[in-house]
Amino acid sequence: MREFIHLKIKRQNNPLGSARWEEFKIPYKPNMNVVSVLMEIRKNPVNARGEKTTPVTWDCSCLEEVCGACTMIINGNARQACSALIDHISQPVTLEPLTKFPIVRDLKVDRSALFEHLKKVKAWINIDGTFDLGPGPRVPEKERRWMYELSRCMTCGCCYQACPNYNIKSSFIGPAPLAQVLRFNQHPTGVMDKEERLETIMGDGGITDCGNAQNCVKACPKSINLTVAIAKLNRETTVHSIRRWLVK
Ligand code: SF4
Repeated sequence: MREFIHLKIKRQNNPLGSARWEEFKIPYKPNMNVVSVLMEIRKNPVNARGEKTTPVTWDCSCLEEVCGACTMIINGNARQACSALIDHISQPVTLEPLTKFPIVRDLKVDRSALFEHLKKVKAWINIDGTFDLGPGPRVPEKERRWMYELSRCMTCGCCYQACPNYNIKSSFIGPAPLAQVLRFNQHPTGVMDKEERLETIMGDGGITDCGNAQNCVKACPKSINLTVAIAKLNRETTVHSIRRWLVK
């Protein structure tokens, strides 16, 4: 049985600082995940050379692969630290921050761009009050299942990390917000803003910036069929532009 968990962590003190690697050896306990190992470092921040260091900064919230906050690059792959079980991954465990978002410190990145893109495409249902609106229209089971699949997105950013067309400087909306356009356009109430959403993704940074690399669908931890969603949206934007031309 292992005595220690060996980690190599890429660290950076601030957004403009330079990156460095620091190694840690943490006493092994069964059933740990990457988050619990980082918590052990926080309790006693001493590196593998026995030197006192600063606690590693990272983000987390739900601890059950729902919020996406603890996403980082673990052994070369973007995934959630909460569901990365130490007993199931090889050592040394390398931890790096996502590279498609600005670094705040160590493993913590600023995913605001993803949320701004969700705002840009109005990824919500417009209702004009908190009063009881009564039951909504019934949705066919096939559509409901598809909407549910899309709703499982946790804005983790793995699809951004995998996408060769997205980087910190690009204006591309990215795979996750595109899929949410489809989700909210299919909703019986959300459909009221369908045209506005389609117009948005037909503009700068929209669907035509997708290079069809198809990396996103492989990277999504929720197995959301992002490529099918983007293909459906491609058809919707084509139909929308023909209609727009006909009513001119
Ligand atoms: Fe993460 Fe998948 Fe949502 Fe992209 S679509 S943000 S990979 S859950």
